[in-house]
Amino acid sequence: MIYQDLLDAGLLASYAAALNSRAGGAHAPGRLTAEELRDRILESGGRCEWCGCSLVNAAFELDHILSLSRGGANKASNLVLSCPDCNRKKGQKHPARFAAEIHLRTGRKTALVMRVFERYGIEPARQNALFAAEAPELEKPNNPLSGQLEPTSYSWPE
Ligand SMILES: [Zn+2]
Repeated sequence: MIYQDLLDAGLLASYAAALNSRAGGAHAPGRLTAEELRDRILESGGRCEWCGCSLVNAAFELDHILSLSRGGANKASNLVLSCPDCNRKKGQKHPARFAAEIHLRTGRKTALVMRVFERYGIEPARQNALFAAEAPELEKPNNPLSGQLEPTSYSWPE
């Protein structure tokens, strides 16, 4: 779908139906209406909420912050506007891991990256150390992310 100030109601309805169908298949809670989608899309201001790139008059995708496969809900509060590149790179990664990846790759902390760090209790001073060094601390029992992250297999920069 292309980001514009006036979003086509028919396209919104089919996008909502596609997301609802995917959520149904994954037994994920939540249903989206075309209006909720429109509001969420316009709230983004036409930027990829992960990396901050402009999506005005460009193709965008909607990403479940916590993926459906990880128990995320199919609700507007769990949806963000994403550029196709970020959505592909994120895949099924935990949002905290992907937020750190974005921060390391771009040097930027978008509002979404900050929100994810706050949500998972990652202190700013420790973000890079945690994720850049293959994060042995992640396995410590007191880490809120312990057990939620797969072993890392990627490296920066790509
Ligand atoms: Zn992006």
